[in-house]
Amino acid sequence: MPLKDIFCQEKAISAIQCSFAGDKVAHAYIFAGPDGIGKFTTAKEFAKLLLCKNPVRKGDFTDSCSNCASCQAFDAGSHPDFEHVYKELLEFTKEGKNKEPPFEFPIDVVREFVLDKVSQRPALSTRRVFVLTEAEKLNNESQNCLLKVLEEPPAYCCIILICTRPDKLLPTIRSRCQILRFGPINEEKIIEKLRHPGLSEKQIKFFARLTDGSLGLAGTYSQLETAEANIYETKTYILDTLANFEYKNALELAETIQKQSKEIAAIWAKLAPATSANDIKRKSTVIILQIIISALHDAMLANVAAGSQIVNFDQSEQVKRIALRFSPEQAAQKIAECFKTLHYLESSVNERLILEQLLLNLAETDRITSEL
Ligand SMILES: [Zn+2]
Repeated sequence: MPLKDIFCQEKAISAIQCSFAGDKVAHAYIFAGPDGIGKFTTAKEFAKLLLCKNPVRKGDFTDSCSNCASCQAFDAGSHPDFEHVYKELLEFTKEGKNKEPPFEFPIDVVREFVLDKVSQRPALSTRRVFVLTEAEKLNNESQNCLLKVLEEPPAYCCIILICTRPDKLLPTIRSRCQILRFGPINEEKIIEKLRHPGLSEKQIKFFARLTDGSLGLAGTYSQLETAEANIYETKTYILDTLANFEYKNALELAETIQKQSKEIAAIWAKLAPATSANDIKRKSTVIILQIIISALHDAMLANVAAGSQIVNFDQSEQVKRIALRFSPEQAAQKIAECFKTLHYLESSVNERLILEQLLLNLAETDRITSEL
């Protein structure tokens, strides 16, 4: 996809165009913003443009030519001056064989795929471009290693950090990078993009709202759904259950949720064989937690700002019942508990236990529910 066709990120693209046209390409960038809104696609296309031997200028827009030796090597995935650096490369490091795919971005990957390679002069183009994905997972020692490159980058080098949470990066890293922010994508545009004969309008609208402007994530969920992951059916079940929730339902719901998240993970693994099994497992549970958070958030809105746009627009009765169970303060507190659970999931403690704990917490309410 050429740079000019990237969807709905005009501001970031125009900043790139300005720096390219003014010959002011920075040595390091942070592409910041939520997952799935085109940061990596943009970084790849920007890299292709930076490496292209014959960029094409049309009006005030410059794009790669797609014909030169550099563009061809880039499209074939074999450009010697382009490095996509990601945490799972650990298994290709000197000491990394047979190591489990890491949750954090390991220093060995930064050392061997950035620090050691940055001094090699470009082989085909006039620049070398490094794109690091999931930079928010760089731990302190990895960031300090990266800092060595950022402190004195060779003139030909450009490093792009793809990052959902720039606040997780050391100030010394941030101050050496130009930060480009990528914003969420408009709901109508996501719906337009995701229309598919296998999906109903309701399902697409729900995915667009659940993922909050992340086209990539909404696209992944829709893809999973057409492969029969039954995410929409699961969310309908969760909302129905939460609307009539009692202590005794908590363990049963935890079990169903776990079973369902395993089914999603199994389908996801087939669609994305390059992603580590642990990451897929975690991401599948995150979908379920996102659904619970959306239900609580909708309930909070129903209490404090009735008539607002809600995620579960197709189950407004259930949302009203959940709103009767939880005051806005309680809903906010339960949402905070869900976020805590998300955090625990990332440190990979016993998933079953923390889901049960969360759902038992959700069953607790100060309000009298017998009138419901
Ligand atoms: Zn080219």
